[in-house]
Amino acid sequence: MKFVYFFGAGKAEGTGDMKGVLGGKGAGLAEMTRIGLPVPAGFTISAECCDYFYKHGKKYPASLAAEVKSHLKRLEHVTGKKLGDANDPLLVSVRSGSARSMPGMMETILNLGLNTKSVEALARNTKNPRFAWDAYRRFVQMYSSVVIGLPKEELEEKLREMRTRRKVKEDTQVTADGWKELVGEYKKYFKSKTGQDFPEDPEKQLWGAIGAVFGSWMAEKAVTYRRVERITGLLGTAVNVVQMVFGNIGENSGTGVCFTRDPSTGEKSFYGDFLINAQGEDVVAGIRTPMHLDEMAKLMPKVYKQLEKVRQILERHYRDMQDMEFTVEEGTLYMLQTRVGKRAPTATFKMAVDMAKEGLIPKEEAIERIKAEDIERLFYPVIAPTFARADLIKRKLADGINAVPGAAVGRAVFTAPEAEEWAKNGEKVILVRRETSPEDVGGMFVAQGILTATGGKTSHAAVVARGWGKCCIVGAEKLDIDYSKKLLQANGLVVKQGDWLTLDGNEGTVYTGEVQLVTPELPESYYTLMGWADQVRVLKVRTNADTPHDARKALEMGAEGIGLCRTEHMFFKDFEQPEKSHDRQLAIQEMIVADSPEARRKALAKLLPYQRRDFIGIFKAMDGCPVTIRLIDPPLHEFVPHDRPKQEELAREIGVDVETVIRRVEQLREANPMLGHRGCRLSITYPEILEMQVTAIIEAAIECKKSGIKVLPEIMHPLTLDRKELQILTDATHRVAGEVIQKAGVKLEYLVGTMIELPRAALLADQIAEVAEFFSFGTNDLTQTVMGLSRDDAGRFLPDYVDEKKAGIFKDDPFQSLDIEGVGMLMEWAIARGRKTRPKLKIGICGEHGGDAESVKFCHRAGMNYVSASPFRVPISRLAAAQAVIEDKRAKKAGRGRKR
Ligand code: PEP
Ligand code: MG
Repeated sequence: MKFVYFFGAGKAEGTGDMKGVLGGKGAGLAEMTRIGLPVPAGFTISAECCDYFYKHGKKYPASLAAEVKSHLKRLEHVTGKKLGDANDPLLVSVRSGSARSMPGMMETILNLGLNTKSVEALARNTKNPRFAWDAYRRFVQMYSSVVIGLPKEELEEKLREMRTRRKVKEDTQVTADGWKELVGEYKKYFKSKTGQDFPEDPEKQLWGAIGAVFGSWMAEKAVTYRRVERITGLLGTAVNVVQMVFGNIGENSGTGVCFTRDPSTGEKSFYGDFLINAQGEDVVAGIRTPMHLDEMAKLMPKVYKQLEKVRQILERHYRDMQDMEFTVEEGTLYMLQTRVGKRAPTATFKMAVDMAKEGLIPKEEAIERIKAEDIERLFYPVIAPTFARADLIKRKLADGINAVPGAAVGRAVFTAPEAEEWAKNGEKVILVRRETSPEDVGGMFVAQGILTATGGKTSHAAVVARGWGKCCIVGAEKLDIDYSKKLLQANGLVVKQGDWLTLDGNEGTVYTGEVQLVTPELPESYYTLMGWADQVRVLKVRTNADTPHDARKALEMGAEGIGLCRTEHMFFKDFEQPEKSHDRQLAIQEMIVADSPEARRKALAKLLPYQRRDFIGIFKAMDGCPVTIRLIDPPLHEFVPHDRPKQEELAREIGVDVETVIRRVEQLREANPMLGHRGCRLSITYPEILEMQVTAIIEAAIECKKSGIKVLPEIMHPLTLDRKELQILTDATHRVAGEVIQKAGVKLEYLVGTMIELPRAALLADQIAEVAEFFSFGTNDLTQTVMGLSRDDAGRFLPDYVDEKKAGIFKDDPFQSLDIEGVGMLMEWAIARGRKTRPKLKIGICGEHGGDAESVKFCHRAGMNYVSASPFRVPISRLAAAQAVIEDKRAKKAGRGRKR
């Protein structure tokens, strides 16, 4: 097997397509060499070698030494120089580079090949001893820290001491002697720490550097970066050994980074930074302020013109914005790297649309270029990029799971009622809880952001916050929350109630204090691109919304109906008239405590007008689009208080003795409520709840219809497991609806259907479809029940199942991205069975997966009619639905091509 690939003198063994093997940098160097751009020669040791290294107890393949040797010879031949030579030494850089860019996460060593002899030769040949000794000290410094692991700080300290001794402030003022003295200091330090002399033999240096680059693949920061960025399935890093070119020889040299278009605005203007007389790391380190390219154009017009040409060639060649690194060595331009450039969310849209309009890429490709995160990041506020990073690091309190992106600033408040109270007084709050429950929704709603110490991405806090597009961090386990003292402690810091907190939901990081946020404006190109996506897609996109406000938001986002209205969310909160919230809560609690159907009906009658008002609001907002309303679903214990003072208060308010309340709460206790008395089982035992809810829905629809608003209600029963069960519920629904319709004397169309959330319902979908007029897959529960994973508790161990370094069993959290293999198979079965009975059966999905791009693509392929996502995820689903069509078209074309 071949592990090393050469490039140089216009030829390359690798190509730009070989990113998986050569890494991004290696593939870019090979491709640039091939298309005739000025690239220094070198060779790439493949990521396959890195893979081998880790799979064989950190040993190299037997053939590697010989391969490296022969490629080094070839490099020496092409450059006419010899590594470590005492007369004309070849110097190389050794750089990492994997298939996905991981900025700053892995290691680089420059100026390798310098030793006591070759440094003198370099000084002679360049007639610049200062440059030569500076290069040598940089090499010794980098080698000591990167390869040997000596502390960077101590090496930097020696540099500072030397400057003080020599009474100079800047590195640029240090003379050759100064650098020479520092090299001596470094070497002494090296020996004292390692017991060995600093290596003179350049081949030994090279192998040390290769080992360090491979080693950096598994360094803590690199592993963490991959986890955070969800980068999986890579072989490892490649190692690029490239002839050094120097931007720090003098005033006719320099180094820079540039982009073929502006990465923050997307404008088609050449954007970049350049430093005269500097080496690459100086630009990144940000010690000196670089000049803009137009300034460089004035200083080095010939080189600039050449660079501008490279810009055009590369963008046309790669058909995307490139981020390039270059060095000018005594007036000669060298390209050191090219890669697809990272860009701000707004720029992502602008570039995709502009490139399609310019004819550089087809519209389909523009649609495919946008990722779900690009859309998400477009909408949420972010920490101002101008905020000093160093200050931010000092404020860091804890890391958690980034459940809902964006950023939020507010005062820490530890209970939901207090959050509401503070908000009423005009305060911005961050609700901090160990975990949240439905009782907390009021406080969650008014909070700028939500922070919990436990839970995963499908915990209550995460699901509810996502629905609102509210910044939320969960599972910040280092937070030590003390409710009684109203404070939290973490990372040696104490945050009391009322202290300011900032949440960065993109990263999942919590900071103390008030960090400045900015909200990016939606660019024109966003609307253009989404319009293109809508023309392509077949799948309809609805939303999960419980309030008129959410419904309107979702419409703005492009929703074409409501796929799930969770009616129980209205039991606790009056979103339109918050002062009525308490009455609602009391009514539902009274209903639960009641011990006879009559008493329950009496309590429910109080709730009916509220629900009717909610539904009218939603129907009006949706203005003729279909609205699926689900009847009560959660177990009743979620609606009653569990602590004595609140139970006493409830007893007082509804006029029963406290023992009755306590007894009832005790009766409702279940060992496993998720599989207990919930879903449509509640309507089987308490038909009066169904009666009230159906009455409210139909009365609301009639009222709207009478005032000229088109309504399409779809009444949905949750957690069904049997045809007969659904028949009983459907009969009751029709009976109640029929009575209301008859009384009103109007004609009203409505559908009655079910959620498919249990394996039995999916397996027997043909029978269920005899009764149901539509199916909606509740994939939160279906994932839970098919996989036997608790959606509320799995957050504790699921990270290990997803973590590549641990078990790596799942590629993704199955509660976020559908388990297509297992749960998906059952869904396909249910779709086929259901449509066998009822060929036109309307089928959708309303679990969290309806807003996950990969899951949406599956839903398209499975032949569903719609997906339903929380309002802020609607655009993600619209886009994914279009991407699925484009991908299928391509696959079909490729399939036909193969057959022919
Ligand atoms: C589901 O289970 O997928 C669903 C949408 O219902 P809920 O999340 O309310 O249980
Ligand atoms: Mg459910």
